Amino acid sequence: MTKRVAIIGAGPSGLAQLRAFQSAKAKGADIPEIVCFEKQSNWGGLWNYTWRTGLDEHGEPVHCSMYRYLWSNGPKEGLEFADYSFEEHFGKQIASYPPRAVLFDYIEGRVKKAGVRDLIRFSTTIRMVTYNEDRGNFTITAHDLKNDRMYSEDFDNVIVASGHFSVPNVPEYPGFDRFNGRVLHAHDFRDAREFAGKDLLLLGASYSAEDIGSQCWKYGAKSITTCYRSAPMGFKWPDNWQEVQQLVRVDENTAYFADGSSKKVDAIILCTGYKHHFPFLPDDLRLKTKNRLATADLYKGVAYVHNPKIFFLGMQDQWFTFNMFDAQAWWVRDAIMGRLSIPADKAVLEKDVVDRVAAEDAGADAHDAIHYQGEYVKELIAETDYPSFDVDGACEAFFEWKDHKKANIMTFRDNAYRSVITGTMAPVHHTPWKDALEDTMESYLKN
Ligand SMILES: Cc1cc2nc3c(=O)[nH]c(=O)nc-3n(C[C@H](O)[C@H](O)[C@H](O)COP(=O)(O)OP(=O)(O)OC[C@H]3O[C@@H](n4cnc5c(N)ncnc54)[C@H](O)[C@@H]3O)c2cc1C
Repeated sequence: MTKRVAIIGAGPSGLAQLRAFQSAKAKGADIPEIVCFEKQSNWGGLWNYTWRTGLDEHGEPVHCSMYRYLWSNGPKEGLEFADYSFEEHFGKQIASYPPRAVLFDYIEGRVKKAGVRDLIRFSTTIRMVTYNEDRGNFTITAHDLKNDRMYSEDFDNVIVASGHFSVPNVPEYPGFDRFNGRVLHAHDFRDAREFAGKDLLLLGASYSAEDIGSQCWKYGAKSITTCYRSAPMGFKWPDNWQEVQQLVRVDENTAYFADGSSKKVDAIILCTGYKHHFPFLPDDLRLKTKNRLATADLYKGVAYVHNPKIFFLGMQDQWFTFNMFDAQAWWVRDAIMGRLSIPADKAVLEKDVVDRVAAEDAGADAHDAIHYQGEYVKELIAETDYPSFDVDGACEAFFEWKDHKKANIMTFRDNAYRSVITGTMAPVHHTPWKDALEDTMESYLKN
């Protein structure tokens, strides 16, 4: 009997999985029956922008954490699909840091070409997955939101591709309840123009603080204050941007920091990260991991060691993204189709995780972390027929990117890199990032 495989989520990871199965089918293989469940009404995951925050039209938590004017925060040469280049999609080479809409178009282009949309049940959220010990399969309970109908179906394998940058980690600080301005998490940030002319406090020292702060600076915030717990980001910030030690408390209009300083602020944005959150998974199937490169409990970074019939995609902290999801999706496809075997001995699976954690911990800095994840991508690609590509070249693009950020955090997006898929150099963008106030595809692609 044909196997049935469920994919939860049609973001870049879930779409990589659909493309992986479709590519095997195109080469003549008999593939399992695939059903992809997506709670939003369109594909693209986080890249599928909505103005909404809080709850969506069906009362479900809004998945989107992206905002207007978001441009790729790393060079596109680090994420390019090995089987679908930017040049193939746009008919020409494009600049290296595309805005969200351009990357959405690129992600969509490959799956449109693959013709996999019919395999997705949109506006359908997964409420529960249970494992049936007696039958060795899973029962999935889905909620068809448009028709407000819940139903259950059985599957032989489940692939969780629901992302982990959507459910915010929201700390509480003394005085938040009497602060006169807005306190919001990065997940609910949508438009930097809202904060033009304002004094802003951003909590956090990672990508969200760096990028949301930069957007607000670009669109006219009066001042930016970012505060860190362990270490500052340490870039050469513009004159109206300061980094201070940890927030201690706020009152109606002032923030007080651990170094004894204070600052009057109009709004507070919590760039305090996201949770791996799987409300649809019971205790025996739920991944519990920190946001790190070597996740807990995943053999080869994808197969759940406590039940390797369920897989997780893209659960790592990410330097590599789209092409790493591909490497994982091709590997998971081959594991499900019996082209690769997963050891039956659980101790072997657990040792794989321990070794990965130790290898990550042995690294000293971001350079080692990029190298570590590059090696992981290579390892998976070597075991499947995903087109091999110059992963070391992609790492080089990341290293250059880090240097460009260190040189000038407000101009790093004006640099260009060479594609490791086609070998072509990207053009320098027609307008420096700080002056390019539009984020439409038309304005980005015009010559
Ligand atoms: C603000 C921000 C900026 C980023 N910028 C970049 C960047 O510049 N470059 C880059 O490469 N990466 C960036 N990322 C990283 C991002 O994680 C990946 O690019 C990518 O979106 C991850 O894909 P995914 O499919 O794993 O998860 P997601 O994109 O989160 O997709 C998960 C999908 O699962 C669906 N889903 C969730 N729960 C359920 C359920 N119960 N039932 C059915 N469907 C469900 C969601 O609706 C969603 O469509 C950024 C992330 C954030 C938050």
